[in-house]
Order: sequence, then structure tokens, then C-alpha cells
Amino acid sequence: MFIPTLKESPADAEVVSHKLMVRAGMIRQVASGIYSILPLGLRVLRKVEQIIREEMNRIDGQETFLPSIQPAELWQESGRWDFYGKELLRFKDRHGREFCYGPTHEEIITDIVRKEVKSYKKLPLILYQIQTKFRDEVRPRYGIMRGREFMMKDAYSFHADDASARETYQKMAGAYANIFKRCGLRFKMVEADSGTIGGNLSHEFAVLAESGEDHIGFCDSCDYASNLELAEAKAPSPDDDNPKLDDLKEISTPGKKSVKEVAEYLSVSSKQIVKTIVLDSDQGLIAGLVRGDREINPTKLKNLIGAEWVRPADAKTISEETGIPCGFVGPVGLKLKVYADREVGALKNFVTGANKTDAHFTGVQINRDFQAEKIADIRKVMEGEPCPRCPSGTYQVKRGIEVGHIFILGTKYSKSMKALFLDPNGKERPMVMGCYGVGVGRTAAAAIEQNHDEKGIIWPVPIAPFAVHIIPTNYSQEAVKNASDSAYRNLQEKNIEVLLDDRPDRLGVKLNDADLLGIPLQIIIGPKNLEAGKVEIKIRKTNTSELHDFPGVLENIPAILNGLLS
Ligand code: ATP
Ligand code: MG
Repeated sequence: MFIPTLKESPADAEVVSHKLMVRAGMIRQVASGIYSILPLGLRVLRKVEQIIREEMNRIDGQETFLPSIQPAELWQESGRWDFYGKELLRFKDRHGREFCYGPTHEEIITDIVRKEVKSYKKLPLILYQIQTKFRDEVRPRYGIMRGREFMMKDAYSFHADDASARETYQKMAGAYANIFKRCGLRFKMVEADSGTIGGNLSHEFAVLAESGEDHIGFCDSCDYASNLELAEAKAPSPDDDNPKLDDLKEISTPGKKSVKEVAEYLSVSSKQIVKTIVLDSDQGLIAGLVRGDREINPTKLKNLIGAEWVRPADAKTISEETGIPCGFVGPVGLKLKVYADREVGALKNFVTGANKTDAHFTGVQINRDFQAEKIADIRKVMEGEPCPRCPSGTYQVKRGIEVGHIFILGTKYSKSMKALFLDPNGKERPMVMGCYGVGVGRTAAAAIEQNHDEKGIIWPVPIAPFAVHIIPTNYSQEAVKNASDSAYRNLQEKNIEVLLDDRPDRLGVKLNDADLLGIPLQIIIGPKNLEAGKVEIKIRKTNTSELHDFPGVLENIPAILNGLLS
């Protein structure tokens, strides 16, 4: 078997799964974000694929295999050819026709279904595939966790109405939970931003791990969990401690720009100061107001105003476009649309910038001194805040790896690409669609992030490349060789996947490699133990070894493996 193990990790490997996959001889890099999968790695990916396949089939998904190369025309029809940007790898064939390498397959699948499905009688329909995608990621890293070429299971569903789409969405959520449970992962299903894909229902499946690129906010007492960029804040209670409304007053604050500086200078709490953040968007400049101790959340603002994108404007843009020096912008008299967080809406007598150098206002009141376009939840939540959904819980924040993502797409693609069907009344309507993705390689990598120690990988049994690893201390010794070979055949006859280390290497090398590869159960066969009718069985997960009767113990191996499942 070809398993080129290494002592050293690649210099550019930042996370443990990347290091261990390379060291265990599972993957090799070919170019940035592009990997060859070697035999041991492929065994793991095939296991993950098979679990996904079984769970997709269980909810009546039907497997297809679509082309990875897609014609530009379909993407022009959906409107994404211009929108998708540099992540889309585009090229021309010998006739000068434009194509792309598929980063996702909504266009291809919608084209098939619109041609073949014309009646409500053929709906709902769930099609899926497991296939290679290409996305020209800005920052490919972490091995196959964020590659440019990677394996994805993508499923698409087609429905006559929203109710049917939601029913399938729920089934899909259940199937996803089964997939990640069966892969031995600790994960959370979190509310996610459906972004510009459209639709209003979307969840991510996040594997909790330090190396995760996403922040997940979840309640320590109820089920609520959300990508932090979307996590709701609890509505504030009204500011009743402050019944008297002060007058608006301009005061000189020479050189005091930051919340901290202004709060100290005026001897007020940062909660009494309102920050005015100027943001840029596809709808132009806007202003967001949050309390001085809070941060603005551009994703929430984007969804609030229905923009394609929103991001903080830079100091130069702000002073050029508004004529106001950075650090002194405030909502009173500001010629931008102003959006206020609910906490600002509840606040009285606050401090803001006065829209000129070295000046602030005190005694500011919303609805008296300025009007907000909308008062809404537009701030980031932080760890330790109260949960918005239950009476007693508080927010925890952890890092997560997004391994799966499910969406209701609505009619975005069926309208632009005319995937229409006749309803029972003979009326033509666009299909309602959903799409659902799982990263195969990323799931395997996430499993390593959660299951490893300083020696190597500790595979969860269901996705381990082999279940049992036989390690003869010296394969050239007759008795050891015979016992190892017969154990190997015996386990194979039991349909247990078994790897036999028949290399002539030193025992230390073989044992280190065994711990690196992380196969759940090791059988170490040596001459002294054999003479006493024993072999050593080591459980990789607990790093514990015990002597067992040989060959009798072989009959117990299925039970021992079963015991490792929980
Ligand atoms: P991310 O936010 O991590 O870039 P995404 O939201 O763009 O991912 P989706 O379009 O939702 O990804 O793709 C579905 C799944 O495909 C993801 O949940 C993830 O498991 C996997 N995936 C996406 N991009 C990559 C990548 N570059 N490398 C490996 N797997 C990926
Ligand atoms: Mg996603």
C-alpha cells in the first residue's frame, strides 16, 4: 500500500488537519489550493461520501453526475456571469466559446429540470451529485479545508409551492444532522445569512473547532444558535431612569475623537455616547448608530436595507463625501440616511459628534434632534449577553468550521431561467427551489480538527480509512508472520477493513506511523506474547493497551469496534 508518511509538516501548514493529512500520506499539494488525494486519503473521502449518499437516498434524493465544465450562456441567463466575480474560473474553447469550471450547479440543474418537468405531478424532485468544484478562492489555505478544487455534495430540490420546499428543507436538515453525527462530529446547526443567493431560510452546519473561520453565537440554555454575523440581540428595555430630557448643547472637545476619550473628558459612561458609523454600500453612503460600548454589524444593515453589500467607509471617503472630519460625525443635521440600533432608540440624553472638528453634542434625543430612517437590531452581539429567545440563557461564542449549508432559494433561478410548471388549475408558475451543500474534504478535515492528539489522527470509526491496523514487531520471523497473516485473513473474512504493516522497518517507526495514521484499533503481534498465546490490543482513542488471548480475541473485534462508536 502506498502511504508516504512524513516526519515533518509542510512549512505553510497552519492547522493541525492540514499537517496531519500531509504527514499521514493522505494528500499532496500540486498547486495552491489544488491537491492530489492519495489512497489512504481517498478511503476516508469515500467513507464520508457513502454516508452522505445513504442519507440523501433515505430522503428520496436521486444521484446524478453533472459536468464540471459549464457554458457561459446558462450563467448569463441566471445573471451570475457578471455578478460572480473572480472566484469563477472562466475560459474559452478552441472555437472561442466561453465556459466556466462550475463552482456550484444551480444553472445546470435548472436547465435540465425546466426542459423535462412541466407539471406539478412530477414535483417535488430532489437531485444531487458528488463532484469536483472549482472556486478561485482569494486565500486558499488549511489544505483541503479551503481548497480551490474540492469535492462537494450538492443537492437541489424543485417544488410546486413554498410549503413543499419547507418540508424538504426540514428533511434535508435532518439528513445533514445524521451525516455529521455519523461522521463522529460535534456540530451545531446555526441560522445563517442567505446573502445574495436570495430566499429567506438558510442554516449552516458548523463543526466547533479552534481553527474555524466563522464565529458562532449560541445560547447556553436553549437551542438558539446563529452565525455571529446574524445573531440577534435581545431587545433593550426602555431607559426609564432618565425621565427628564436635557436640552441639546454643543460643547468643545478638543482632540477627543474616540468613545473612550470623549467618555473620560465628559465623565460619562461609554453607554451614554452614540457612535455614528458611516458605511458604504451599493445604495451609496449611509450612517449607522450604535451605543459607544457596541459594534455595528454590516451584515444586519445590509439585510435591513436590502443592499447587495455594505461595508465601513474609509476616513478619506467620509471626509470627502460629507465634509465632516472623522471622529466627529453625528446624526444631528447629517445629510445621510441614518439607521439606529434599538438601544439607541431607547436611549435619552446621549452624546454624539457635532459634525465639526473638536465639537460634540450632549443631551441629544432621537426623534427630537434627528430622525432615523429605521430603528432596528443592527449591532454585533457579544459573549455573555442575554439570549434573545429564552428568559435565562446567555450567549456563548465559539469558532466553527462550516461543513454544510442549506438554503431555500425561492424562485430566483426558476424566474430568471424560466423553470415553469403547470399547477392543478393549468396555471403556469415558477418552481420553488432549494439548494444544499456539504464539503466532503472539509468534513474529513474537520473530523481531524476535533479528533487528534500530539501523535496524530484519531479517526472516528465510521470514516476511518481502516478499522484495524495489524503491526507485527518483526514480520520476518516465521511465527509472527504466520499469526499476522492469519489475523489479517480472519478479519477480512469478517468484512473488517484491515491494514497489515508488513514493512521491514524498526518497530518504533511502525508504532509511530500507526499513531499518526490514527486507525481506531491496533493489534501488535510479537514473539514473546505469542508464545504465551497473547497479542497486544491498543485503542487509539484512549491510548490504552491490553493483552488478549490469540486467536480468540479476533472474535471480539467487531464488538470492540462497536463499543468505539459511542
Ligand atoms: P465558505 O463561506 O467557507 O467560503 P461557502 O459558503 O462559500 O463556504 P457554500 O457555497 O455554502 O460554501 O458551499 C457548500 C459547502 O462546500 C460548504 O459548506 C463547505 O463545506 C464546502 N466548501 C465551500 N468552499 C470550499 C472550499 N474552498 N474548500 C473546501 N470546501 C469548501
Ligand atoms: Mg456557505
